[in-house]
Amino acid sequence: RRAIYEQQRDLPAVTRDEALVTLLMNAGLLVDMPHMAEAGAEGVGLYRTELEFMVRATFPRVETQTELYARILESAEDRPVVFRTLDVGGDKTLPYIGERHEPNPAMGWRAIRIALDRPALLRTQVRALLIAGAGRDLKVMFPMVTDVTEFVEARGVLESEHDRLRRQGRNLPRGLEVGAMLEVPSLLFQLPALLREVDFLSIGSNDLAQFMFAADRGNQLTGDRYDPVGPAFLRVLAEIAAAGRAAGKPVTLCGEMAGRPLDAMAAIAVGLRRLSMTAGSIGPVKAMIRSLELRPLERLTADLLDRPDRSLRRDLKNFAVENG
Ligand code: PEP
Ligand code: MG
Repeated sequence: RRAIYEQQRDLPAVTRDEALVTLLMNAGLLVDMPHMAEAGAEGVGLYRTELEFMVRATFPRVETQTELYARILESAEDRPVVFRTLDVGGDKTLPYIGERHEPNPAMGWRAIRIALDRPALLRTQVRALLIAGAGRDLKVMFPMVTDVTEFVEARGVLESEHDRLRRQGRNLPRGLEVGAMLEVPSLLFQLPALLREVDFLSIGSNDLAQFMFAADRGNQLTGDRYDPVGPAFLRVLAEIAAAGRAAGKPVTLCGEMAGRPLDAMAAIAVGLRRLSMTAGSIGPVKAMIRSLELRPLERLTADLLDRPDRSLRRDLKNFAVENG
């Protein structure tokens, strides 16, 4: 199998009936970057910046962050990198932001909520990103957005830093795109308003499923009861994909399901065309896509979405087996 993945590394992720899928990689440390070329990823769809903060004892200064982001961009050569601003809080605490014990950390003071309450942290990070991205295309997204106004406010912080650097005569990114993670269900009911504001969307299916099913993403007792490859979650993915396409804004799926071949197949069946996953999943997912006949799968899935079943995994697996 490994030999097949290697053979296909430089081939496009295209189905037998010519639907093209973009495969990107998730990363969080500089040492992840060489995997991009090795795996044949077209870029980094999710760079989790908090990992570098969690291995430090103090908040990294703007110069330290700038150097780090510049090295990441350099190692990506001309491929795109989507930087996600700090997603800490809850259980991923940084001692230097103030240890807190919250009864419901996943739903607590985390991610963009901290960024908006402590704008100096966000300002430092986006300044570092803007300086590191000088002369390149810079893509930044905010995690755990719950309301469109939060996105607008965070983007405002980024834009004011951008203006400040411009007034200082600094070299700026050639292009700047700002997006939101879609991982809190409330945003699903603001999709048109959200899509007017963002340049792109990224579906954090780990958190989105956790909050949709009200089931802790790390709890094995509830993990088997709910399935993202089921009518409820796939309908949501279908709706996001359609809304993104209608608005002309790219949508990337970037939770763990994007890296599981059967789940990725289901996501493609409901219209998603950009998937971001760990580097090791690119080979298997690409092999699945290159053997896939999408049209019959789309028809099958459209019918299955009306079923009252909890999971469609068995039906989709049968399709995969029958169709090679
Ligand atoms: C997600 O929630 O699906 C996601 C990609 O972000 P993280 O796993 O870092 O929360
Ligand atoms: Mg998340």
